[in-house]
Amino acid sequence: MLKRFFSYYTPWKGLFLLDFGCAVLAGLFELGFPMAVRAFIDDLLPTENWTLILLASAALLVIYAINAGLMAVVVYWGHMLGINIETEMRRKSFDHLQKLSFRFYDNHKTGHLVGRVTKDLEEIGEVAHHGPEDLFIALMTLIGAFALMFSVNWKLALIAVVIVPFMAWVTSRYGARMTRNWRALYSSVGDFNVRIEENVGGMRVVQAFANEDHERQLFARDNASYRSTKLEAYKLMAASTSLSYMSMRLIQLVVMVAGAYFVLEGELTAGGFVGFLLLVNVFFRPIEKINSVIETYPKGIAGFRRYTELLDTEPDIADRTDAREAPALNGRIDYHDVSFGYGGTPVLSGVNLAIEPGTTVAFVGPSGAGKTTICSLLPRFYETQDGTITVDGIDIRDMTLRSLRGQIGIVQQDVFLFGGTIRENIAYGRLDAAEADIVEAARLARLDSVIAQMPAGYDTIIGERGVKLSGGQKQRLAIARMFLKNPPILILDEATSALDTATEREIQKSLAELSKGRTTLVIAHRLATIRNADKIVVVDRSGVVETGTHRELLALDGLYARLHMAQELE
Ligand code: ADP
Ligand code: MG
Repeated sequence: MLKRFFSYYTPWKGLFLLDFGCAVLAGLFELGFPMAVRAFIDDLLPTENWTLILLASAALLVIYAINAGLMAVVVYWGHMLGINIETEMRRKSFDHLQKLSFRFYDNHKTGHLVGRVTKDLEEIGEVAHHGPEDLFIALMTLIGAFALMFSVNWKLALIAVVIVPFMAWVTSRYGARMTRNWRALYSSVGDFNVRIEENVGGMRVVQAFANEDHERQLFARDNASYRSTKLEAYKLMAASTSLSYMSMRLIQLVVMVAGAYFVLEGELTAGGFVGFLLLVNVFFRPIEKINSVIETYPKGIAGFRRYTELLDTEPDIADRTDAREAPALNGRIDYHDVSFGYGGTPVLSGVNLAIEPGTTVAFVGPSGAGKTTICSLLPRFYETQDGTITVDGIDIRDMTLRSLRGQIGIVQQDVFLFGGTIRENIAYGRLDAAEADIVEAARLARLDSVIAQMPAGYDTIIGERGVKLSGGQKQRLAIARMFLKNPPILILDEATSALDTATEREIQKSLAELSKGRTTLVIAHRLATIRNADKIVVVDRSGVVETGTHRELLALDGLYARLHMAQELE
């Protein structure tokens, strides 16, 4: 774990060493100042030589200035090191998220994932910077200050360190409790994010059900639990702050009384006395530092653990090592004995299909039968458990995901649009498309007249997930994307099911246009829309039950004929 953590320092070795060196130097200066004060009082004052006193002060000023510069450098470089490591980890996380399959996203909440890429990594960045540096400097000053105290007056030094075991006890006792507390806090922040994400994302549903009070109550519970965990943390913080303050002051007082005695006895000079008191401060400061490292370390490690957990999640669908770029596909598709299930129960078993290039195949059947599932296997959103799927005779697992998915276009019932402009959303079909191609795609999808009426034309912002567009407009945008992408294989998954019949009829025309010359897999809710398909596959919970043309299936008088009859009656 730690070894892996430190491997992130490797690219920044130079920066780390520079920063570390400056921090050590600054630490040494801090140790030196009390001794300088002692020399000032004991050696310089008795000379009564103002030139010397002013010269020494000037020298001190120079050293102070250097130290100030060092501090600035340490703060800046140290944080630079932290943010460099954080940025690299964030890049890796985001990169990895792109590779994880649908199955992963089926089982993870957006809010938690967002937290991992943002908050978690911020904590790690802090620890990456402060952890090793603060710990080392703290130990160095602790030991250094003690050695100096010992050299000034060993009896006084022994009296001063008597308090150390007590402070160590306070630190470890409160440290452990704080660690537990932070952990609880972070998990409640995660739940918090999920709650807010879902509430804000689903606000339309919340308000449509008038369930604001219910949401408020759920949120109030999380909010209250967050508050009480945090209050617990502050209570601990309050106790440990005042305890360590009190013990520090106590020891100072003891040192003062004992020191006064030693001075009067002639065992200690006045300068040594003052220097010693300053050293006591230098001695105790690292203990607070160590405290804060002990406090932030668990946060960082918890974050790092979650980070490695994410990175170690192997993408369950990836290019085989010997995968090749798919050639330009004709679109002949074959399913050979394909079986699949999402988890426990199998959804598909022994599905066989042969689809000629350029033809349209329709899938019909009751909801939940597995129509969408059959189509999801083709772009390898999920992996078949048994059997193979080939396109143009090539096993889809032998092609790279990119070259396979680049040649399959999907239009679904709910179109996911991004928050930008109409132009950007159409161009998502082919990122390097020229303006003229985008306009042409919009024309083919009959989106041009809609765009012409928009206030800013192609630059109109369509709102999060396209909320400012109607259902029909969203579908047209999705179709325009497909015209632009121009794939040989097309999947239309209930693309018009959510629309009213008039709009559906309009969109159907565009879809028919889009399907021309492409192998098209269409899932239809309303059978009237697929009457002319080259082949109709009837899917039931028991699998593919009938295949044929509209006429053949009617003649068969099976499930299709019954579904057809039912819809005709409507
Ligand atoms: P259809 O498109 O025919 O309505 P689906 O292919 O969407 O049916 O679903 C087939 C079955 O698989 C259903 O029982 C559904 O509950 C289940 N299912 C669909 N998607 C998932 C998923 N991502 N995870 C788990 N089960 C799923
Ligand atoms: Mg479906």
